[in-house]
Amino acid sequence: MHETALMQNLIATVLQVAEKHNAARVNRVVLSVGKLANVLPEALSFAFEALTQDGIMKGAELEIKHLPAVARCDSCGHEYQVDEWPLSCPACQSRSFVITGGEEVYLESIDCVEKSVHGEGSEG
Ligand SMILES: [Zn+2]
Repeated sequence: MHETALMQNLIATVLQVAEKHNAARVNRVVLSVGKLANVLPEALSFAFEALTQDGIMKGAELEIKHLPAVARCDSCGHEYQVDEWPLSCPACQSRSFVITGGEEVYLESIDCVEKSVHGEGSEG
């Protein structure tokens, strides 16, 4: 199940970001998932829960935002959202297109609680 591997990577990134921000804990992670990303949101949520059983992400929430698929017409260059198949360009009705969006999965935002700092300023 590649959602687990994907989630492992994403969580590694979240932890890096959290560390950079000196976070005490992570409350919420917002993930954007394209319509064509070929991942199951349920599987992502499941993997997220399984991978956040301890550490600073324990109990963190996962929110998944769905991104629309976007295609660019090969004939006239018009970009349009993909709502249903088969595709045809709303401007020129061409059936020839390139998918330009909707296949991505990325971290949209991370909501973390920073450690309280008491003037322990060591900058590196
Ligand atoms: Zn067109």
